[in-house]
Amino acid sequence: MSKYTWCLHCETVHLTKSWEQHGKEKGDTIDAVHGLCPNCVAGGFLDGWRWSELVKYNGYPKEPKIGHEYPLYPTDEQKKLLSS
Ligand SMILES: [Zn+2]
Repeated sequence: MSKYTWCLHCETVHLTKSWEQHGKEKGDTIDAVHGLCPNCVAGGFLDGWRWSELVKYNGYPKEPKIGHEYPLYPTDEQKKLLSS
């Protein structure tokens, strides 16, 4: 299990355990298993991506800023800003 999970819906990153906790508190059965985005309540089953995928493709830092927005398709400028 990845330490961080990124949301396809709102493009913010959170601790995976925050997703799990939110899913248990606010979600239905499937959310209790896969979690819910702490920011926008997208379901982790479809919209929760392992942070390591974003690190691999976009060169984002392994330890992201929690709650920060990291676009899936960053411009070169954004890539530069967000990779440090
Ligand atoms: Zn979200």
